[in-house]
Amino acid sequence: MPSQLRIYVPPHPLIKHWLGIARDKNTPSTLFKTAMVELGRWLTYEAIREWLPTIDVDIETPLTNSSATFIDPNTTIATIPILRAGLTLWEGCQTLLPLATTYHLGLVRNEETLEASCYLNKLPIKFKDDTRILILDPMLATGGSIMFAMNEIVKKGGNPDFIRIISVVAAPPALQKLSAHYPSLNIYTAMIDEQVNDSGYIVPGLGDAGDRSFGTN
Ligand code: URA
Repeated sequence: MPSQLRIYVPPHPLIKHWLGIARDKNTPSTLFKTAMVELGRWLTYEAIREWLPTIDVDIETPLTNSSATFIDPNTTIATIPILRAGLTLWEGCQTLLPLATTYHLGLVRNEETLEASCYLNKLPIKFKDDTRILILDPMLATGGSIMFAMNEIVKKGGNPDFIRIISVVAAPPALQKLSAHYPSLNIYTAMIDEQVNDSGYIVPGLGDAGDRSFGTN
């Protein structure tokens, strides 16, 4: 059966709450950053459900024998924040996956052509075949950055079947490109917005996620 891109918008009150805070233009930068960290945490919580392999082990409680389920320690997990704004999502993500390895990818968008270029690439030479990869990219707008990132990650052996993307707001142009090239991907996002304007910003969106996270403009 051909695979199809799956987009999850978890109906979680905390995700809705922090999205509202992030969208509000009157939210100060420090609170905006907190919102992104919290969204990173709760979207990661949703994304790793039924994704991380577990093992059943016999243990002893203080009272008797029992069995317990643990995350398989042989699982390799990679988190990839897309700089700059992905760093804030990553902060929440890593509270749940502290043992994951983090590979930074720094991308900047040319404001005229909207094309992404890379200023920092800390991806490994080669991912292990079954590495579970979480990409943290808050705004899936025109698709320039996420397609660039996916291309680099797949070149290094990342398997789209094992990749999940965490975003805050996703828009049709990026989703269509991802679906056409990587149909087996799973995306976790707080919201899907309908439009991207001529400057490449998602509408209603939340503005420039990097600037608002770090207090720059
Ligand atoms: N990047 C942002 O930070 N915001 C958008 O709306 C689109 C891309």
